[in-house]
Amino acid sequence: MRVCPIGAIKVKESRGLIMKKVVLEVDKTKCTGCGKCLNYCAHRAITIN
Ligand code: SF4
Repeated sequence: MRVCPIGAIKVKESRGLIMKKVVLEVDKTKCTGCGKCLNYCAHRAITIN
């Protein structure tokens, strides 16, 4: 969310007090496919199709 230059990434779901689980969602209508977010995901959970 911090690295996306156009704010296309939003929190879709956030739950849990001790083991926090956060699900993010990319707004495909805003995403330009620049790829900046790919380098910041430690688990390589983001792909661009
Ligand atoms: S590819 Fe670029 S525009 Fe799309 S979500 Fe990632 S950082 Fe944002």
